Amino acid sequence: MVRLLLKPGIERRLKNVYLWIFNNQIERVEDLQNNGDLVEIISSKGRPVGIGYFNRHSLIAVRVLSFQSETIDQAFFHQRISRAIERRARLSPNATSGRIVFSEADLLPGLIVDRFGPYLSVQLLTLGMERLWPIIEPVLVELLRPEAIVLRNDSPAREREGLDRKVEIAHGEVPDVVEIDEYGLKFGVDMRGGQKTGFFFDQRDNRRICRNLAANGRVLDCFSYTGGFALNAARGGAVSVLAVDESDEALQLLERNAARNNLDGITTRRADCFVLLRELQKSGERFDLIILDPPAFVKSKEKLREAVRGYKEINLSAMKLLSPGGILISCSCSYQLSPVEFLNMITSAARDARRLCHLREFTTQAPDHPVLLTMPETQYLKCAVLEMID
Ligand code: SAH
Repeated sequence: MVRLLLKPGIERRLKNVYLWIFNNQIERVEDLQNNGDLVEIISSKGRPVGIGYFNRHSLIAVRVLSFQSETIDQAFFHQRISRAIERRARLSPNATSGRIVFSEADLLPGLIVDRFGPYLSVQLLTLGMERLWPIIEPVLVELLRPEAIVLRNDSPAREREGLDRKVEIAHGEVPDVVEIDEYGLKFGVDMRGGQKTGFFFDQRDNRRICRNLAANGRVLDCFSYTGGFALNAARGGAVSVLAVDESDEALQLLERNAARNNLDGITTRRADCFVLLRELQKSGERFDLIILDPPAFVKSKEKLREAVRGYKEINLSAMKLLSPGGILISCSCSYQLSPVEFLNMITSAARDARRLCHLREFTTQAPDHPVLLTMPETQYLKCAVLEMID
């Protein structure tokens, strides 16, 4: 195997189960044949410290697969993926949908697997994982017996790895719309054309919080996608729900999802939420519950300040639109924005909106998207439930 030598002091970080090695932490790579190859990681003192895969075009040059000298073969993936499946089974024994493999958090960096009943949606986010796919696919087939596997290799993250973006069916056939159940609500999912893997399972428990806060309220669901929060609000007894998204496809699915669950009182509007929030403010509308679940605004550390301004703008507008006692469910899925920075942004929005708030709950992603404590980057979702107390 190719040997990759680390600069002094770097192995200490790895020993703490940190799975990324950046290109400035590498002394040299000996005899690399192909970019994306597996490498044996050697400490500055000459000791083998693990195995990973290398990409010379990526800032994160190595992602570690193992801290032992072992062969990365089908048996290796069988063990890692079956453990990931067992952990999910312990979380919710009867679940037929949800995340099965969450990349670094399941010690399988670059691999995402979501299950939609008998169908799997897979993202290979790195060159190294893409090269290993031929030995991963048979393991997924053996362990989960899927009717089909969709490869959602259209994530922008792949460009940073020098990979192309495409959607393929690796195995079997998928219907245009797959129906899943989340806490008694049915959702149609477009596994080939929907966003990311097709559905945002990470918000499952936050959507349930929303359901419990919606009774008798006028609700505004911003960045609604296919209605995750909007449908929960309607199920929870909202008097009206306005769901806003810029995507026509998402709103069409939302309307069909509402019909699937016999929920009425949901209106959809195709709009840019930034613009709409400003307009609603001018028109003097009031809501009792507002959800903000924007896409990741922060794509890199350099863009953080700009993104924080964006988050603050929508939070400030939403706070001004809420009635006294109204509730804001505000989310951010940018891992570069820390929980503390996120709360600081909300505090500053509340100050400018002249609203006094209670932080009723502060949560994160659903537990099938576990957080690996030694890799803070795996905790990406922040969800604050705020009550306007004046
Ligand atoms: N809350 C959803 C997930 C939201 S994903 C759920 O529970 O399933 C983010 C959504 O924001 C996407 O549907 C995307 O189309 C939409 N979006 C992104 N930028 C937008 C903008 N400026 N205005 C309106 N919608 C936007």
